[in-house]
Amino acid sequence: MERGVFTISLDFELAWGMEEKPLSPSFQQKMLWEVQKGIPTMLELFKKHKIHATWATVGLLFSGNGKEDPLRYAMTSIKSILSCPNQEIGTHTFTHYCCLADGQDKDDFASDLKNAVGIARRNGIKIKSIVFPHNQVNEEYLQICQKEGITAFRGNPQSWMYEARKGGKEPLFCRLGRLADSYINISGHNAFDLKKPSAGILNIPASRFFRPYDRFLAFFEPLKLRRILSDMKYAAKNNLVYHLWWHPYNLGAGREFKKNVQFLREILSYFSELSLKYGMESLNMGELTNKVTAND
Ligand SMILES: [Zn+2]
Repeated sequence: MERGVFTISLDFELAWGMEEKPLSPSFQQKMLWEVQKGIPTMLELFKKHKIHATWATVGLLFSGNGKEDPLRYAMTSIKSILSCPNQEIGTHTFTHYCCLADGQDKDDFASDLKNAVGIARRNGIKIKSIVFPHNQVNEEYLQICQKEGITAFRGNPQSWMYEARKGGKEPLFCRLGRLADSYINISGHNAFDLKKPSAGILNIPASRFFRPYDRFLAFFEPLKLRRILSDMKYAAKNNLVYHLWWHPYNLGAGREFKKNVQFLREILSYFSELSLKYGMESLNMGELTNKVTAND
């Protein structure tokens, strides 16, 4: 890249990402907060700092405006995302489809994705980017995405601890490794250069998950912020891409929400600084793909 790029992608799914388990009251509270406070706050901050983000949206959220069930339908939020400048609506499949789950196959995925792309199209949105639920990237399904007009997906960070696995089969040392890696530099900066793929769709790997505030690790929280800021600086100085992601509900509710918003504010202000100093730019996944493919 000729300059550093800061990319943000958000997995927008509300209760559809949790269908396996009954929703606890604290999750319900977080999700209500997400719609009422979280998304408007993020959009305001994105506008202020000229952040271009991709909202990987579960297709079922398009099926109602939220009055019927605010945890499952979110057309009102989708419209407010679209009315904020430089935001991209991508897909997180129609039903929050897990591509490595047992018992599903290519055809099931193809029809799910067709529904996701179709419901967006009927709302005037052309889907170009995908984030696979639970980050379960299934290489065999990338062609199906391409057939639906998708040009990029979010891959997993390169390090062993971020490898995609079927739900529940993840070794403990991977989870602990990722937790520790949020605070101290184990896997490196995870910033990367991007080249036009010779075939297929572009992989825009995640660099880091924006892990919410953890009151049990309160003492270490400043380290987590420092880790992200130093990754960003590294990317800005070396003309690399840095890709941060989270679920809007990760910002939480109540007091936790305030801490996370403060954290986010610091990250975005730092981006503004890097943009002035090193010319770092913010691009959503769609824009980044256009840039990479136009370059060659
Ligand atoms: Zn998800």
